[in-house]
Amino acid sequence: MSYPYEAPVSQELFDRAAAVTPGGVNSPVRAFRAVGGTPRFMVSGQGPYLTDADGREYVDLVCSWGPMILGHAHPEVVAAVQKAVTRGTSFGTPGEGEVELAEAMVARIEPLEQVRLVSSGTEATMSAIRLARGFTGRAKVVKFAGCYHGHVDALLAAAGSGVATFGLPDTPGVTGAQTGDTIVLPYNDLDAVRAAFAANPGQIACVITEASPGNMGVVPPRDGFNAGLKELCAADGALYVSDEVMTGFRVTRSGWYGRDGVRPDLMTFGKVMGGGFPAAAFGGRADVMALLAPAGPVYQAGTLSGNPVATAAGLAQLRLLDDAAYARLDAVSAQIQELVTAALTKEGVAHRLQTAGNMFSVFFTDEDVRDFEAAKRQEAFRFTPFFHSMLAQGVYLPPSAFESWFVSTTHDERAVQRIADALPAAARAAAEAHA
Ligand SMILES: *Cc1c(COP(=O)(O)O)cnc(C)c1O
Repeated sequence: MSYPYEAPVSQELFDRAAAVTPGGVNSPVRAFRAVGGTPRFMVSGQGPYLTDADGREYVDLVCSWGPMILGHAHPEVVAAVQKAVTRGTSFGTPGEGEVELAEAMVARIEPLEQVRLVSSGTEATMSAIRLARGFTGRAKVVKFAGCYHGHVDALLAAAGSGVATFGLPDTPGVTGAQTGDTIVLPYNDLDAVRAAFAANPGQIACVITEASPGNMGVVPPRDGFNAGLKELCAADGALYVSDEVMTGFRVTRSGWYGRDGVRPDLMTFGKVMGGGFPAAAFGGRADVMALLAPAGPVYQAGTLSGNPVATAAGLAQLRLLDDAAYARLDAVSAQIQELVTAALTKEGVAHRLQTAGNMFSVFFTDEDVRDFEAAKRQEAFRFTPFFHSMLAQGVYLPPSAFESWFVSTTHDERAVQRIADALPAAARAAAEAHA
Protein backbone atom coordinates (compact mmCIF):
# COMPACT_ATOMS: atom_id res chain seq x y z
CA MET A 1 0.00 0.00 0.00
CA SER A 2 1.05 3.63 -0.26
CA TYR A 3 1.48 5.56 2.91
CA PRO A 4 -0.42 8.83 3.14
CA TYR A 5 2.39 10.67 4.87
CA GLU A 6 6.13 10.29 4.44
CA ALA A 7 8.57 10.92 7.27
CA PRO A 8 11.94 11.71 5.69
CA VAL A 9 13.89 12.47 8.87
CA SER A 10 12.57 9.34 10.61
CA GLN A 11 13.42 7.34 7.49
CA GLU A 12 16.98 8.66 7.53
CA LEU A 13 17.33 7.75 11.21
CA PHE A 14 15.82 4.33 10.52
CA ASP A 15 18.38 3.71 7.76
CA ARG A 16 21.20 4.71 10.12
CA ALA A 17 19.71 2.51 12.85
CA ALA A 18 19.42 -0.50 10.54
CA ALA A 19 23.17 -0.27 9.86
CA VAL A 20 24.06 -0.71 13.51
CA THR A 21 21.04 -2.47 15.08
CA PRO A 22 19.17 -5.57 13.82
CA GLY A 23 16.03 -4.37 12.06
CA GLY A 24 16.82 -0.82 13.16
CA VAL A 25 15.08 -1.13 16.55
CA ASN A 26 15.69 -2.29 20.09
CA SER A 27 12.31 -4.02 20.47
CA PRO A 28 10.66 -5.68 17.44
CA VAL A 29 7.16 -4.12 17.46
CA ARG A 30 8.70 -0.65 17.04
CA ALA A 31 9.84 -1.53 13.51
CA PHE A 32 6.27 -1.29 12.05
CA ARG A 33 6.67 -4.67 10.33
CA ALA A 34 3.02 -5.55 10.97
CA VAL A 35 1.75 -2.34 9.35
CA GLY A 36 4.60 -1.35 7.02
CA GLY A 37 5.95 2.14 6.46
CA THR A 38 8.50 4.18 8.37
CA PRO A 39 8.60 3.89 12.15
CA ARG A 40 8.39 7.34 13.70
CA PHE A 41 11.46 8.34 15.68
CA MET A 42 10.16 10.42 18.57
CA VAL A 43 12.10 13.36 19.91
CA SER A 44 9.85 14.58 22.71
CA GLY A 45 6.64 14.01 24.60
CA GLN A 46 4.42 16.39 26.51
CA GLY A 47 1.18 15.30 28.20
CA PRO A 48 -0.81 13.24 25.65
CA TYR A 49 1.36 14.31 22.70
CA LEU A 50 4.48 12.97 21.02
CA THR A 51 6.58 14.92 18.51
CA ASP A 52 8.57 13.03 15.89
CA ALA A 53 11.87 13.85 14.20
CA ASP A 54 10.01 15.41 11.26
CA GLY A 55 8.35 17.86 13.65
CA ARG A 56 4.86 16.31 13.52
CA GLU A 57 2.74 16.03 16.64
CA TYR A 58 0.64 12.97 17.50
CA VAL A 59 -1.93 12.15 20.15
CA ASP A 60 -0.25 9.17 21.81
CA LEU A 61 -2.41 6.09 22.40
CA VAL A 62 0.55 3.85 23.20
CA CYS A 63 1.92 5.73 26.22
CA SER A 64 5.15 3.68 26.06
CA TRP A 65 2.93 0.53 26.22
CA GLY A 66 1.40 1.69 29.47
CA PRO A 67 3.96 3.34 31.74
CA MET A 68 3.17 6.96 30.81
CA ILE A 69 -0.13 6.87 32.65
CA LEU A 70 0.24 10.50 33.78
CA GLY A 71 1.23 11.64 30.29
CA HIS A 72 4.71 12.56 29.08
CA ALA A 73 7.06 14.73 31.12
CA HIS A 74 4.68 15.09 34.07
CA PRO A 75 6.16 18.02 36.04
CA GLU A 76 6.11 16.26 39.43
CA VAL A 77 7.68 13.08 38.06
CA VAL A 78 10.30 15.13 36.21
CA ALA A 79 11.08 17.07 39.42
CA ALA A 80 11.49 13.84 41.41
CA VAL A 81 13.84 12.46 38.76
CA GLN A 82 15.89 15.67 38.63
CA LYS A 83 16.25 15.66 42.40
CA ALA A 84 17.32 12.01 42.40
CA VAL A 85 19.81 12.43 39.54
CA THR A 86 21.69 15.25 41.26
CA ARG A 87 22.28 12.98 44.27
CA GLY A 88 24.00 10.31 42.16
CA THR A 89 22.55 7.73 39.83
CA SER A 90 23.59 4.32 41.19
CA PHE A 91 25.33 3.15 44.33
CA GLY A 92 25.25 -0.66 44.28
CA THR A 93 24.08 -0.46 47.90
CA PRO A 94 20.62 -0.43 49.45
CA GLY A 95 18.87 2.96 49.56
CA GLU A 96 15.74 4.55 51.00
CA GLY A 97 14.00 5.02 47.62
CA GLU A 98 13.65 1.28 47.03
CA VAL A 99 12.20 0.80 50.51
CA GLU A 100 9.66 3.56 49.89
CA LEU A 101 8.63 2.12 46.52
CA ALA A 102 8.27 -1.39 47.97
CA GLU A 103 6.22 0.01 50.88
CA ALA A 104 3.95 1.91 48.49
CA MET A 105 3.34 -1.25 46.45
CA VAL A 106 2.73 -3.47 49.47
CA ALA A 107 0.32 -0.88 50.89
CA ARG A 108 -1.75 -0.88 47.70
CA ILE A 109 -1.93 -4.63 47.00
CA GLU A 110 -3.02 -6.76 49.91
CA PRO A 111 -1.58 -10.16 48.77
CA LEU A 112 1.78 -8.51 48.14
CA GLU A 113 3.47 -9.19 51.47
CA GLN A 114 7.03 -8.88 50.20
CA VAL A 115 8.47 -7.60 46.97
CA ARG A 116 11.84 -7.80 45.16
CA LEU A 117 12.70 -5.03 42.70
CA VAL A 118 14.23 -5.84 39.30
CA SER A 119 14.70 -3.85 36.08
CA SER A 120 12.27 -5.34 33.55
CA GLY A 121 9.05 -7.29 33.37
CA THR A 122 10.96 -10.13 31.73
CA GLU A 123 13.26 -10.36 34.72
CA ALA A 124 10.25 -10.32 37.05
CA THR A 125 8.46 -13.26 35.41
CA MET A 126 11.71 -15.21 34.92
CA SER A 127 12.51 -14.82 38.62
CA ALA A 128 8.96 -15.63 39.73
CA ILE A 129 9.05 -18.91 37.76
CA ARG A 130 12.43 -19.81 39.27
CA LEU A 131 11.11 -19.07 42.74
CA ALA A 132 7.94 -21.09 42.16
CA ARG A 133 10.06 -24.05 41.04
CA GLY A 134 12.40 -23.61 44.01
CA PHE A 135 9.52 -23.39 46.47
CA THR A 136 7.54 -26.36 45.15
CA GLY A 137 10.48 -28.53 44.06
CA ARG A 138 8.54 -29.13 40.82
CA ALA A 139 9.54 -28.45 37.21
CA LYS A 140 6.44 -27.88 35.09
CA VAL A 141 4.88 -24.52 34.31
CA VAL A 142 1.46 -23.90 32.78
CA LYS A 143 1.02 -20.84 30.54
CA PHE A 144 -1.69 -19.75 28.14
CA ALA A 145 -1.49 -19.24 24.39
CA GLY A 146 -1.45 -15.53 23.60
CA CYS A 147 -0.25 -14.50 27.04
CA TYR A 148 3.08 -12.69 26.88
CA HIS A 149 5.35 -12.69 29.90
CA GLY A 150 8.45 -11.08 28.40
CA HIS A 151 11.09 -12.96 26.44
CA VAL A 152 11.77 -15.60 29.08
CA ASP A 153 13.05 -18.75 27.30
CA ALA A 154 10.65 -21.13 29.03
CA LEU A 155 7.69 -18.85 28.30
CA LEU A 156 8.40 -18.17 24.61
CA ALA A 157 5.97 -20.83 23.52
CA ALA A 158 2.74 -19.55 21.95
CA ALA A 159 3.46 -16.08 23.34
CA GLY A 160 1.47 -13.04 22.26
CA SER A 161 2.74 -9.48 21.74
CA GLY A 162 5.58 -9.18 19.17
CA VAL A 163 5.59 -12.92 18.74
CA ALA A 164 1.91 -12.91 17.80
CA THR A 165 2.48 -10.00 15.45
CA PHE A 166 5.16 -11.90 13.58
CA GLY A 167 3.33 -15.19 13.72
CA LEU A 168 6.40 -16.99 15.02
CA PRO A 169 5.12 -20.24 16.53
CA ASP A 170 8.36 -20.53 18.45
CA THR A 171 11.78 -18.92 18.27
CA PRO A 172 15.15 -20.29 17.23
CA GLY A 173 17.59 -20.17 20.12
CA VAL A 174 15.13 -21.58 22.63
CA THR A 175 15.77 -25.30 23.04
CA GLY A 176 13.31 -28.10 23.61
CA ALA A 177 14.87 -28.54 27.03
CA GLN A 178 13.94 -24.95 27.91
CA THR A 179 10.28 -25.28 26.87
CA GLY A 180 9.96 -29.00 27.61
CA ASP A 181 8.52 -28.30 31.04
CA THR A 182 6.13 -25.64 29.72
CA ILE A 183 2.53 -26.68 29.15
CA VAL A 184 0.69 -24.27 26.83
CA LEU A 185 -3.10 -24.22 27.15
CA PRO A 186 -5.87 -22.23 25.46
CA TYR A 187 -6.80 -19.11 27.42
CA ASN A 188 -10.11 -18.98 29.31
CA ASP A 189 -10.41 -22.78 29.27
CA LEU A 190 -10.58 -24.13 32.83
CA ASP A 191 -11.30 -27.66 31.60
CA ALA A 192 -7.92 -27.67 29.85
CA VAL A 193 -6.25 -26.61 33.10
CA ARG A 194 -8.13 -29.30 35.03
CA ALA A 195 -6.96 -31.90 32.49
CA ALA A 196 -3.35 -30.68 32.73
CA PHE A 197 -3.35 -31.09 36.50
CA ALA A 198 -4.93 -34.53 36.16
CA ALA A 199 -2.26 -35.60 33.67
CA ASN A 200 0.64 -34.15 35.72
CA PRO A 201 -0.29 -34.62 39.37
CA GLY A 202 2.21 -33.13 41.81
CA GLN A 203 4.46 -31.98 38.94
CA ILE A 204 3.23 -28.45 38.15
CA ALA A 205 5.16 -25.72 39.97
CA CYS A 206 2.86 -22.90 38.91
CA VAL A 207 0.27 -21.57 36.55
CA ILE A 208 1.28 -18.17 35.17
CA THR A 209 -1.32 -15.97 33.52
CA GLU A 210 -1.71 -12.33 32.57
CA ALA A 211 -4.15 -11.03 35.20
CA SER A 212 -6.19 -9.79 32.25
CA PRO A 213 -4.39 -10.37 28.95
CA GLY A 214 -3.44 -7.33 26.88
CA ASN A 215 -0.76 -8.86 24.64
CA MET A 216 -3.04 -10.59 22.11
CA GLY A 217 -5.23 -7.52 22.10
CA VAL A 218 -7.45 -7.11 25.17
CA VAL A 219 -8.98 -10.48 26.07
CA PRO A 220 -10.30 -10.34 29.64
CA PRO A 221 -10.78 -13.48 31.73
CA ARG A 222 -14.27 -14.98 31.81
CA ASP A 223 -16.06 -14.59 35.15
CA GLY A 224 -14.52 -17.07 37.55
CA PHE A 225 -11.54 -18.00 35.35
CA ASN A 226 -8.85 -16.56 37.63
CA ALA A 227 -10.66 -17.85 40.72
CA GLY A 228 -10.80 -21.29 39.09
CA LEU A 229 -7.07 -21.19 38.36
CA LYS A 230 -6.33 -20.29 41.94
CA GLU A 231 -8.54 -23.13 43.21
CA LEU A 232 -6.98 -25.74 40.90
CA CYS A 233 -3.47 -24.59 41.89
CA ALA A 234 -4.27 -24.71 45.60
CA ALA A 235 -5.78 -28.20 45.32
CA ASP A 236 -2.57 -29.54 43.73
CA GLY A 237 -0.02 -27.56 45.76
CA ALA A 238 1.00 -25.43 42.75
CA LEU A 239 1.41 -21.63 42.88
CA TYR A 240 -0.92 -19.21 41.10
CA VAL A 241 1.26 -16.52 39.50
CA SER A 242 -0.56 -13.42 38.28
CA ASP A 243 1.41 -11.35 35.76
CA GLU A 244 0.34 -7.74 36.36
CA VAL A 245 3.22 -6.13 34.44
CA MET A 246 0.66 -4.44 32.18
CA THR A 247 -2.43 -4.19 34.40
CA GLY A 248 -0.63 -3.39 37.68
CA PHE A 249 -1.35 0.16 38.90
CA ARG A 250 -3.03 0.80 35.52
CA VAL A 251 -6.55 -0.60 35.70
CA THR A 252 -7.06 0.32 39.37
CA ARG A 253 -4.93 1.53 42.26
CA SER A 254 -4.22 -2.13 43.02
CA GLY A 255 -4.25 -3.39 39.44
CA TRP A 256 -6.43 -6.25 38.22
CA TYR A 257 -6.36 -7.70 41.75
CA GLY A 258 -8.43 -4.64 42.69
CA ARG A 259 -11.09 -5.87 40.25
CA ASP A 260 -11.30 -9.62 40.79
CA GLY A 261 -9.91 -9.97 44.32
CA VAL A 262 -8.37 -13.36 43.53
CA ARG A 263 -5.33 -13.75 45.77
CA PRO A 264 -2.22 -14.75 43.82
CA ASP A 265 0.67 -16.58 45.48
CA LEU A 266 3.10 -14.55 43.39
CA MET A 267 2.63 -11.43 41.25
CA THR A 268 4.80 -9.59 38.74
CA PHE A 269 4.92 -5.87 37.94
CA GLY A 270 6.64 -3.45 35.59
CA LYS A 271 5.53 -0.67 33.23
CA VAL A 272 3.54 1.84 35.37
CA MET A 273 5.56 1.21 38.54
CA GLY A 274 8.75 2.48 36.84
CA GLY A 275 7.33 5.86 35.85
CA GLY A 276 9.02 5.52 32.43
CA PHE A 277 12.27 4.10 33.84
CA PRO A 278 13.44 0.48 34.00
CA ALA A 279 11.88 -0.69 37.27
CA ALA A 280 9.88 -3.88 37.74
CA ALA A 281 9.16 -6.29 40.57
CA PHE A 282 7.88 -9.65 41.68
CA GLY A 283 6.44 -10.50 45.05
CA GLY A 284 3.66 -12.11 47.02
CA ARG A 285 3.41 -14.57 49.89
CA ALA A 286 6.07 -13.92 52.53
CA ASP A 287 6.71 -17.65 53.07
CA VAL A 288 7.47 -18.06 49.36
CA MET A 289 9.55 -14.87 49.08
CA ALA A 290 11.57 -16.05 52.12
CA LEU A 291 13.26 -18.56 49.82
CA LEU A 292 14.98 -15.80 47.83
CA ALA A 293 18.67 -15.06 48.36
CA PRO A 294 20.06 -13.86 50.71
CA ALA A 295 17.16 -14.90 52.99
CA GLY A 296 16.97 -18.30 51.28
CA PRO A 297 18.64 -20.52 48.66
CA VAL A 298 16.95 -19.37 45.40
CA TYR A 299 19.44 -17.05 43.72
CA GLN A 300 18.39 -13.76 42.14
CA ALA A 301 20.30 -10.47 41.80
CA GLY A 302 20.74 -7.27 39.75
CA THR A 303 23.38 -4.52 39.48
CA LEU A 304 20.77 -1.84 38.83
CA SER A 305 17.88 -3.37 40.82
CA GLY A 306 16.17 -0.70 42.92
CA ASN A 307 18.03 2.04 41.05
CA PRO A 308 17.53 5.37 42.86
CA VAL A 309 16.44 7.35 39.78
CA ALA A 310 14.00 4.66 38.62
CA THR A 311 12.51 4.21 42.07
CA ALA A 312 12.12 7.99 42.48
CA ALA A 313 10.21 8.17 39.18
CA GLY A 314 8.03 5.17 40.04
CA LEU A 315 7.26 6.43 43.52
CA ALA A 316 6.36 9.93 42.29
CA GLN A 317 4.02 8.38 39.72
CA LEU A 318 2.33 6.01 42.20
CA ARG A 319 1.77 8.86 44.66
CA LEU A 320 -0.07 10.85 41.99
CA LEU A 321 -2.28 7.91 41.03
CA ASP A 322 -5.21 8.47 43.37
CA ASP A 323 -8.86 7.50 42.91
CA ALA A 324 -9.53 10.69 40.94
CA ALA A 325 -6.78 9.76 38.47
CA TYR A 326 -8.32 6.32 37.83
CA ALA A 327 -11.79 7.85 37.44
CA ARG A 328 -10.31 10.24 34.88
CA LEU A 329 -8.56 7.38 32.99
CA ASP A 330 -11.77 5.32 32.91
CA ALA A 331 -13.82 8.27 31.67
CA VAL A 332 -11.49 9.30 28.87
CA SER A 333 -11.00 5.69 27.82
CA ALA A 334 -14.79 5.18 27.63
CA GLN A 335 -15.10 8.34 25.56
CA ILE A 336 -12.52 7.14 23.02
CA GLN A 337 -14.05 3.64 22.95
CA GLU A 338 -17.43 5.13 22.04
CA LEU A 339 -15.92 7.22 19.26
CA VAL A 340 -14.14 4.21 17.76
CA THR A 341 -17.27 2.05 17.91
CA ALA A 342 -19.42 4.77 16.35
CA ALA A 343 -17.00 5.41 13.49
CA LEU A 344 -16.56 1.72 12.62
CA THR A 345 -20.29 1.02 12.95
CA LYS A 346 -21.12 3.92 10.64
CA GLU A 347 -18.88 2.41 7.94
CA GLY A 348 -20.28 -1.08 8.51
CA VAL A 349 -16.94 -2.53 9.63
CA ALA A 350 -17.31 -5.74 11.63
CA HIS A 351 -15.50 -5.14 14.89
CA ARG A 352 -15.38 -5.99 18.55
CA LEU A 353 -14.14 -3.48 21.07
CA GLN A 354 -12.91 -5.29 24.18
CA THR A 355 -11.98 -3.66 27.45
CA ALA A 356 -10.17 -4.33 30.70
CA GLY A 357 -10.78 -1.22 32.76
CA ASN A 358 -9.17 1.68 30.87
CA MET A 359 -7.25 -0.72 28.59
CA PHE A 360 -9.02 -1.57 25.35
CA SER A 361 -8.44 -2.83 21.84
CA VAL A 362 -10.35 -3.31 18.61
CA PHE A 363 -10.66 -6.68 16.89
CA PHE A 364 -11.86 -6.63 13.29
CA THR A 365 -14.31 -9.49 13.74
CA ASP A 366 -17.93 -10.24 14.69
CA GLU A 367 -17.08 -12.81 17.32
CA ASP A 368 -16.51 -12.41 21.00
CA VAL A 369 -12.73 -12.89 21.36
CA ARG A 370 -11.99 -15.16 24.32
CA ASP A 371 -8.69 -16.76 23.30
CA PHE A 372 -5.68 -16.43 21.01
CA GLU A 373 -7.18 -18.55 18.22
CA ALA A 374 -10.20 -16.23 18.05
CA ALA A 375 -7.91 -13.18 18.15
CA LYS A 376 -5.98 -14.53 15.16
CA ARG A 377 -9.20 -15.08 13.19
CA GLN A 378 -9.84 -11.31 12.99
CA GLU A 379 -9.46 -9.46 9.68
CA ALA A 380 -6.13 -7.96 10.68
CA PHE A 381 -5.67 -6.63 7.12
CA ARG A 382 -8.23 -3.93 7.96
CA PHE A 383 -5.99 -2.65 10.73
CA THR A 384 -3.15 -1.59 8.40
CA PRO A 385 -4.99 1.16 6.47
CA PHE A 386 -6.85 2.13 9.65
CA PHE A 387 -3.54 2.58 11.47
CA HIS A 388 -1.92 4.57 8.65
CA SER A 389 -4.92 6.85 8.26
CA MET A 390 -4.85 7.64 11.99
CA LEU A 391 -1.08 8.16 11.87
CA ALA A 392 -1.34 10.54 8.91
CA GLN A 393 -3.94 12.52 10.84
CA GLY A 394 -1.76 12.79 13.93
CA VAL A 395 -2.92 9.90 16.12
CA TYR A 396 -0.33 7.34 17.19
CA LEU A 397 -1.85 3.86 17.67
CA PRO A 398 0.00 0.66 18.59
CA PRO A 399 1.48 -0.54 15.26
CA SER A 400 -0.21 -3.95 15.48
CA ALA A 401 -3.76 -5.31 15.61
CA PHE A 402 -2.78 -7.47 18.61
CA GLU A 403 -1.96 -4.79 21.17
CA SER A 404 -3.87 -2.83 23.79
CA TRP A 405 -4.37 0.92 23.39
CA PHE A 406 -3.39 3.08 26.38
CA VAL A 407 -4.61 6.45 27.63
CA SER A 408 -3.20 8.86 30.21
CA THR A 409 -4.71 11.28 32.70
CA THR A 410 -3.61 14.11 30.35
CA HIS A 411 -5.78 12.99 27.42
CA ASP A 412 -8.04 16.04 27.50
CA GLU A 413 -10.83 17.38 25.28
CA ARG A 414 -8.42 18.71 22.67
CA ALA A 415 -6.66 15.34 22.39
CA VAL A 416 -9.96 13.45 22.24
CA GLN A 417 -11.23 15.86 19.58
CA ARG A 418 -8.20 15.12 17.41
CA ILE A 419 -9.00 11.40 17.68
CA ALA A 420 -12.68 12.07 16.89
CA ASP A 421 -11.71 14.08 13.81
CA ALA A 422 -9.39 11.35 12.53
CA LEU A 423 -11.69 8.35 13.02
CA PRO A 424 -14.18 8.76 10.13
CA ALA A 425 -11.52 8.58 7.39
CA ALA A 426 -9.69 5.76 9.19
CA ALA A 427 -12.92 3.75 9.52
CA ARG A 428 -13.58 4.29 5.81
CA ALA A 429 -10.07 3.02 5.02
CA ALA A 430 -10.75 -0.07 7.15
CA ALA A 431 -14.05 -0.65 5.34
CA GLU A 432 -12.37 -0.43 1.93
CA ALA A 433 -9.46 -2.72 2.87
CA HIS A 434 -8.90 -5.99 0.99
CA ALA A 435 -7.22 -9.12 2.29
C1 LIG B 1 5.42 -5.88 28.99
C2 LIG B 1 5.10 -7.18 29.64
C3 LIG B 1 6.10 -8.04 30.12
C4 LIG B 1 7.57 -7.81 29.85
O1 LIG B 1 8.04 -6.64 30.43
P1 LIG B 1 9.42 -6.00 29.86
O2 LIG B 1 9.68 -4.87 30.79
O3 LIG B 1 9.13 -5.59 28.45
O4 LIG B 1 10.45 -7.08 29.93
C5 LIG B 1 5.72 -9.16 30.85
N1 LIG B 1 4.43 -9.43 31.07
C6 LIG B 1 3.43 -8.65 30.61
C7 LIG B 1 2.01 -8.99 30.92
C8 LIG B 1 3.73 -7.51 29.87
O5 LIG B 1 2.74 -6.75 29.38
